[in-house]
Amino acid sequence: MSTGVTRPAIGDWRTLEELGALQDEQLPRTLAAAARSPFYRARHRGQTPMDRAELQDCPLTTKQDLRDQYPFGLLAVERRALATYHESSGTGGVPTSSYYTADDWHDLTERYARKWVGIDASDTFLVRTPYALMITGHLGHAAARMRGATVVPGDNRSLAMPYARVVRVLHDLDVTLTWSLPTDPLLWAAAAERVGLRPSTDFPALRALFVAGEPLTPARRSRISEIWGVPVVEEYGSTETGSLAGECPDGRLHLWADRVIFEVYDPASATTRPAGRGQLVVTPLYREAMPLLRYNIEDEVELSYAACGCGWQLPTVRVLGRAGAGFPVGTAVVTQAVLEELVFSLPLDYGVMFWRARAEPDRLLIQIEVVDRYRSAAASALATAVGRVYDVDVDVTPLPPGGLVPTQVLTNSPDVVKPRSLFGAGEDWGKALLYH
Ligand code: AMP
Ligand code: MG
Ligand code: ZN
Repeated sequence: MSTGVTRPAIGDWRTLEELGALQDEQLPRTLAAAARSPFYRARHRGQTPMDRAELQDCPLTTKQDLRDQYPFGLLAVERRALATYHESSGTGGVPTSSYYTADDWHDLTERYARKWVGIDASDTFLVRTPYALMITGHLGHAAARMRGATVVPGDNRSLAMPYARVVRVLHDLDVTLTWSLPTDPLLWAAAAERVGLRPSTDFPALRALFVAGEPLTPARRSRISEIWGVPVVEEYGSTETGSLAGECPDGRLHLWADRVIFEVYDPASATTRPAGRGQLVVTPLYREAMPLLRYNIEDEVELSYAACGCGWQLPTVRVLGRAGAGFPVGTAVVTQAVLEELVFSLPLDYGVMFWRARAEPDRLLIQIEVVDRYRSAAASALATAVGRVYDVDVDVTPLPPGGLVPTQVLTNSPDVVKPRSLFGAGEDWGKALLYH
């Protein structure tokens, strides 16, 4: 089912007013699609909102609504029109479904492909996010294919793709672009060093690292960039929505407001505003299979319409994420973001890439992996830095490399074989049928 709609590209509008006009032009089609969804039909009792003012009166769609509609309660097209079915990474419980038509996929891939460093036919693109159920692996894959790149499908949850193999592929195939969680390039760096390769010099083809999926502080981001000697290009999105924001050449995250209407919800006052701090609420404008009206993605964000040096007429967003809350230690509340910023502000030479911390009632325990030479320097520098931010007792323990991320995880190359039932006399048949 083709809507025959043309979707905007960056540069098609010059002002925020023109951007609003683009949204208004598409909104009736979005609302008509929602009217075909059993969930919205029941919710609106046939009184589908007709314009933006009526949309503003609609209740927010919650994650619980999505769970309640598992699997196909939001389906607004025939099943046969679906191209893919996905579930988000949410832990346990009732899954959150999302599904897309082939046309929906054009919108998804175009949004993803808006990378300021570009993606083209000369690129070798390593997909290192999951393919199983989530959208992320397929999204990077499809966008890179659309731009003509050579895709290397290296799913980070597959037994077939341990870190040692990632390093080999990055190196031997001259991979130019990668797509992963921000944590992954740190693990690749450690795995590369284990086989005597230097991330900054031994991977000359690499030109950018695309990352998303977890909060990333400026310090960790610049550290990853320093280690690999290439830009880290961040984006923000979810399985239910695809890419919602991508980075501009000035390093800010811009929301794709030509494709999605954004609002910010303040739970305290139960109201939404066009900008400011709160939970991000989205109305994707170009979806047919699974329309979403005012969907609260429940990520804490800060949305701003202040102009950015890049010139893009799109709002910027800071994603504070769901883990923004923190843990109490004494009278302080310690957050992962603050600790991450401090850890990755240690000198590059110390080589600290991995850490963990535990907030106990009366002290903060931190462990870092650090080479012998910098053990005491790194531990005392971090303890001092934490003490400057938080009034807490802090105990930093330096661990040797392998202390947090086992060396075996970085160097293993487990055999991946086909299932087998018949074994020879001397063979171990304990692995019958278990194909790994
Ligand atoms: P999923 O639901 O499994 O598709 O994961 C989407 C969630 O990952 C989002 O709702 C965010 O909480 C988180 N996320 C994705 N990208 C980012 C990012 N760039 N910064 C912070 N959190 C992110
Ligand atoms: Mg999710
Ligand atoms: Zn910008």
